[in-house]
Amino acid sequence: MTDLAVPPASAATADREPRLKCVNPADGSAVADYPVAGADEVAAAVGRARAAAPAWQALGSDGRERCLLRWASHLVEHADELCDLVHAENGKPRDDAYLELVLALELIRWAAKNAGRELRPRRVRPGPLMANFAAHVEYRPLGVVGVIGPWNYPLYTPTGSGAFALAAGNTIVFKPSEYTTAVGVYWASAFAAANPDLPAGVLSVVTGYGETGAALCRADVDKIAFTGSTATGKKIMATCAERLTPVLLECGGKDALVVAEDADVTAAAKAAAWGGVGNSGQTCVGVERVYVVEPVRDKFLSALRAELSGVQGSASPDGAYGPMTMPSQVDVVRRHVADALEHGGTAVVGGLDSIRPPFIDPVVLVDTDESSLAVQEETFGPTLTVRTVRDVDEAVALANGTRYGLASTVFSRTRGVEIARRLRAGATSINAPLGFGAIPALPFGGVGESGIGRIHGAEGLREFVRPHAIARQRFAIPGPSLMSFDRPAAMMRLVKKLVARRHKF
Ligand code: NAD
Repeated sequence: MTDLAVPPASAATADREPRLKCVNPADGSAVADYPVAGADEVAAAVGRARAAAPAWQALGSDGRERCLLRWASHLVEHADELCDLVHAENGKPRDDAYLELVLALELIRWAAKNAGRELRPRRVRPGPLMANFAAHVEYRPLGVVGVIGPWNYPLYTPTGSGAFALAAGNTIVFKPSEYTTAVGVYWASAFAAANPDLPAGVLSVVTGYGETGAALCRADVDKIAFTGSTATGKKIMATCAERLTPVLLECGGKDALVVAEDADVTAAAKAAAWGGVGNSGQTCVGVERVYVVEPVRDKFLSALRAELSGVQGSASPDGAYGPMTMPSQVDVVRRHVADALEHGGTAVVGGLDSIRPPFIDPVVLVDTDESSLAVQEETFGPTLTVRTVRDVDEAVALANGTRYGLASTVFSRTRGVEIARRLRAGATSINAPLGFGAIPALPFGGVGESGIGRIHGAEGLREFVRPHAIARQRFAIPGPSLMSFDRPAAMMRLVKKLVARRHKF
């Protein structure tokens, strides 16, 4: 597939070396290389997006639905090629790449099919004071949305914001992660290939590193939808403050899994193993911490050990999970494991020896001090901390004890929802791992340092529109008006009486 969506390199970018070189994280082999877009190229891409916006908006939600469904169809037709590319550039096994594609397709479909209904004009009651009015809210697209993405789910994450922004009538400029640029370019090129009659700027890509992302934040965009680390999210918010550009921030997490006494303990161990170690632990809503009540602790730990037996990172397209995609993350994982071992933790699966870059085999750390890095900071590797707690109350208190609040998991046969309600998180999956992430109608996003705003679902569509309030006078009330300079004193006395009666409680 050609790079339809990447702006041609100008003389300025051609001179600027080095180019962005995408490599296979398992063996360092070259995958592709791209120009590094500077502020001028970013501004030009945003200009093309703005020029394309009227045509995209004029299609209406039905027309946009057809374009989005054609995009999904094109991605499915090229699934093998795309999953090979995801495997090569991100490192995840091909089946995981396919699963990620399936989730992205469901997001596109949901956004396409529901935007018209969720964003249709909504009548509101005018209230007794304005009984002679009709009132309604219309939802207008923002214009151009800048999407900045990470590398860990290079299809699912830009789709979670991008497809919703498009369905809501915006055009978008996407800056993929420097670690998965080829996948990002493919994703956008597929949209153009599926919709050859659309103007080029509906969905375009600018390639580069953090500076290119910062240039997109400074450009003439109407919102930035960012997915990535909390540290970068803070920088993005600061940069966007320069122009008061609104931000949607989907940042990091330190998600906990709570195992209650009445849990299906084997299922909980399976969920902890896959939720913690799958995708090399590089999942924002992956399980990083487990709180298990004392009576079922031993059973849980032996089931977890059994579940992880033989599981390891590898370069195989059919392996359990792949290498660490971003080389520098290996040092973060090593630091966290070492710190945990120094702070009372015991490794019951793996240990420091499990770290053999670019792969890390599973590490399970038991009863590490709650203040240690492995418990408080996002590790983003195939590691789990497991702490024994007296009861669910203690589990909830500790689960809520970090600055993050992205998602969570609860295993309990009878108290799942009750426990979920007490967790400070944007989402909870009960009795299975990551359920919320595969239901496109559910909003997705965090609290605290996990971010601001929501993607997916109706809330995710509303992030990309501005409400326009419309009040229409249906008939004029004869005589003097409250909203004029000719309010007689008698009228005000009557109004005061009525107001006092209405609000007496
Ligand atoms: P990152 O923050 O390093 O980079 C994300 C993107 O931001 C990249 O495209 C990068 O080039 C760009 N960027 C870097 N500096 C920038 C700047 N100053 N201005 C503008 N853009 C800039 O994150 P990452 O390592 O790519 O991704 C991993 C992180 O993403 C983890 O913390 C993970 O939890 C988080 N994540 C969150 C979600 C979610 O939905 N909450 C989903 C996936 C990943």
